Amino acid sequence: MANEIILSASGLTKEFKGFVAVDDVTLSVRRGTIHALIGPNGAGKTTCFNLLTKVLSPTAGRIIYNGRDITKMSPANVARLGLVRSFQISAVFGHMTALENVRIALQRRIRGDSFDFWCSERVLSSLHDEAWELITAVGLTEFAMIPARELSYGRKRALEIATTLALDPEMLLLDEPMAGMTQEDVERVSALIKEISQKRTILMVEHNLSVVASLSDRITVLTRGKVLAEGDYATVSKDPRVIEAYIGV
Ligand code: ADP
Repeated sequence: MANEIILSASGLTKEFKGFVAVDDVTLSVRRGTIHALIGPNGAGKTTCFNLLTKVLSPTAGRIIYNGRDITKMSPANVARLGLVRSFQISAVFGHMTALENVRIALQRRIRGDSFDFWCSERVLSSLHDEAWELITAVGLTEFAMIPARELSYGRKRALEIATTLALDPEMLLLDEPMAGMTQEDVERVSALIKEISQKRTILMVEHNLSVVASLSDRITVLTRGKVLAEGDYATVSKDPRVIEAYIGV
């Protein structure tokens, strides 16, 4: 159902040896939206993202996904529920072609994280077709047979998104999808994220504010580990506290 909450965090807190990096954060992401987490450097975005994606355990607080408490669940179990973090580039196998990378991700969906898999001819052939579909969806058709390490940075990120989509997530968590990209890559990946959001919910940490402005339905602004403001871009960008937090860095 549109507008229902798919992911929420309440009282989320993370302390590192007495330093509170994320401080009592409450956040709700609505199904079918693109939600951005922004804030100046050191605001706690990455820590918050790592808590939501289960890379870190919170010191306090709860995370609910689709009505289930996932606070203590492993990243693999959370992924099985449909909440998937975009893989890091290091997870892309450089010597394999873009297409092979996507096919392996598809095989993982079927066989779990194990590499010790066996697939019938029929399954392999359907995986091959599905891999092509994903490669096409992320705009890599021309580059499908090129070793992943030879792709441009922006295309590697697109491949990373394709391998994430191979897991058929209901919700995607993207960590700075535009980091290090050329303007052309930013435009291509922005269009891809928009397209993906037609069917899936997206939460992203992103520094590029023009991307945030053009893509996000809702934005949560963090500063010093706390939620400073929340709303659409027009609202938060006019908020004097948000302006001060960015200027004051
Ligand atoms: P952002 O992503 O918004 O730049 P981070 O979440 O990376 O912010 O960091 C928030 C604060 O927490 C920073 O002051 C950072 O130094 C601190 N921090 C992050 N990770 C650790 C850690 N593992 N140990 C100690 N302090 C940390």
